[in-house]
Amino acid sequence: MTNNTYKYLLSDIKNLKGVGLKTSKLLKKKKINSIFDLLWRLPKSYTDRSFVSKICDLMIGKVQTIKIVPLRYQFPRVRNLPNRVNCIDQTGKIDCIFFNSHEGYIRKILPLNEEVTISGKISSYKGRYQVTNPSYISQDSALVKTIDNKYSLTEGIKEKTYNKIINQILKNLPILDEWHDKEILKKFDNQSWNEAIIKLHDPSNIENFKANFYKRLVYDEIFASFLVNSEIRKKIKKIKKTSKQFKKKVQNDIVGRLDFNLTNDQRNALNEINQDLNSKSKMFRLLQGDVGSGKTIVSLISSLNVISSGFQVALMAPTEILARQHYKLAKKLFPTNTCIELLSSKSENIEKKRIVNGLKDNKINMVFGTHAIFQEKIIFANLGYIIIDEQHKFGVRQRKLLSDKGGNNCDVLLMSATPIPRTLTMSVYGDMDVSIIREKPQNRKEVKTYSKLENKIDDVIKFVKKEIKEGNQIFWVCPLIEESKKLDHQSSVNKYKYLNELFPNKVALLHGKIENEEKEKILNKFLKKEYSILVSTTIIEVGIDFPNANVIIIENANKFGLSQLHQLRGRVGRGVKQATCILMFKSNLSVNAKKRINILKNSNDGFEISEEDMKLRGFGDLLGFKQSGVKNFRLADPIQNEDLFLLAEKQIKKIEIENLKIDKYQALLKLYDQADIINDMV
Ligand code: ADP
Ligand code: MG
Repeated sequence: MTNNTYKYLLSDIKNLKGVGLKTSKLLKKKKINSIFDLLWRLPKSYTDRSFVSKICDLMIGKVQTIKIVPLRYQFPRVRNLPNRVNCIDQTGKIDCIFFNSHEGYIRKILPLNEEVTISGKISSYKGRYQVTNPSYISQDSALVKTIDNKYSLTEGIKEKTYNKIINQILKNLPILDEWHDKEILKKFDNQSWNEAIIKLHDPSNIENFKANFYKRLVYDEIFASFLVNSEIRKKIKKIKKTSKQFKKKVQNDIVGRLDFNLTNDQRNALNEINQDLNSKSKMFRLLQGDVGSGKTIVSLISSLNVISSGFQVALMAPTEILARQHYKLAKKLFPTNTCIELLSSKSENIEKKRIVNGLKDNKINMVFGTHAIFQEKIIFANLGYIIIDEQHKFGVRQRKLLSDKGGNNCDVLLMSATPIPRTLTMSVYGDMDVSIIREKPQNRKEVKTYSKLENKIDDVIKFVKKEIKEGNQIFWVCPLIEESKKLDHQSSVNKYKYLNELFPNKVALLHGKIENEEKEKILNKFLKKEYSILVSTTIIEVGIDFPNANVIIIENANKFGLSQLHQLRGRVGRGVKQATCILMFKSNLSVNAKKRINILKNSNDGFEISEEDMKLRGFGDLLGFKQSGVKNFRLADPIQNEDLFLLAEKQIKKIEIENLKIDKYQALLKLYDQADIINDMV
């Protein structure tokens, strides 16, 4: 029943006529491997050779088509001088110039006294029209009067060759069975995939982004990406595991020990996680929440539940500093009979060995660390729960690998503070169930945000003095470590020197080049309030929790994206005091930059900010998205095509709820998602 005609489109480009080794190598360098890949290079403009001009009407500098009669050959016997053919029509004279062409060839293609159609760029030399190496010459004018698309060509491939290749493909497009439902198709004026592809390459449709054929192709692409994710999710859900049984008392005790109440969103997220842990199918869940929304505590409470059910837990953080922070919090909150350890790259070998053995013998209940905790030599006796903090850089496929790694009994929770626009949720996280914490803890005051020109630094220093007097602490963020001649960002090193003179013994410096051990020491001292100012690069961006710091100053703020600024700002305002964020700029702001800053000033909601950020800068620049794979859309644009993203989401939900068969999407999935992940699926 299944239709296999799509296979032609997946075949190697070297099977095409006119694509030799050289062309195929050039294209493959640009990641164009299959015929299908070639379809998405769109024409930018076109050359119309269909109109035949008279010589007297020629325009210099333009590609034009003329019918001429060759009268005389001029073949100079001197090296480097071109061969020349004098030609005429009823209205004037023109010379055809040939570099690097043999006499015999020229005599053949331009026989004297016979009418020939040529096409090429017209120039003039000493008052005479001429055309150098015309691109088309034929006695059959129909072969010349073409319309050639101009593609942004791969170097080394000629326009004529490229057009021949594309036209060959368009002529041989297989007729694919329609994969969409009738109602969906109606929205695109019932245009078939084939029709749409042909229109896509029709020069009269260049940049016709609003047309139905174009939208249909965009929709195909979005839908395919959503469907793959949805299938991965279903597949993971089908994995059977031993349900985790725990008593409500464990959770109640730890919640009772907290010096705050959980927010409603935190409670809901915890319930959703607990339900998954209890269930007989594997959890694969994302805990999404803005910076400071309190994800850590949710993950720790659920960890304790898992531990009490007899399983081990592993929590992986992107940096050692964060791993240690989580470890310390757990140490403070967990009952003393739980055995938890921090696996640090700096630990002594004996210490490491002890932890490795403890995990193998099931003596250790929970381990904290960076990706090192998933090294091969680490064997868990009974791993039941993996938590991964702040890993927005993981793509769908990496997550799938990770989820496989723990084995069937292992539930997986990812935590991310990267809020993403709604249109993107399904393509970025469609493979997971999602719990969202929107609500911030109630005691939070909004961070007040100001912008300042760098030459107003004296005002900033005055403000800092006042804050220090009141016992507050300050983050001072600079984009680079050392002064670079090319990039004139403020370096943290210089700023440290400058501030240290103003505030002797009160300033600490932290950057990526400082050894981990030293970093920890510095952060600990800052935490103990031995310093008032921490000058730092953006390494403080992720996850660090210092409730006493309530001012953050960000230099060269225009070098950061909005979402990133929001993340940085999220480092403060975690305590009860009013927090302040000062964005410093080198020079007056452009209109666009002002708009961006105003968004930040007016909103403390990461989701809202990311939507706006995307509208202003395009989604590719959103924090962390470069790695997430979303950028791989060929036509779809989350801003322009919001409606199609929502339509696809609706359709996927329908398929999931009604448990519809997806066989009819086989060709779509094979074409648009060529990864192995679907091989055993359809
Ligand atoms: P994030 O979601 O960014 O990882 P954290 O888990 O680091 O946030 O929490 C930020 C701070 O908020 C921590 O100091 C934490 O103790 C505190 N916190 C968490 N939940 C609450 C709550 N419900 N009420 C008050 N403070 C809370
Ligand atoms: Mg966090």
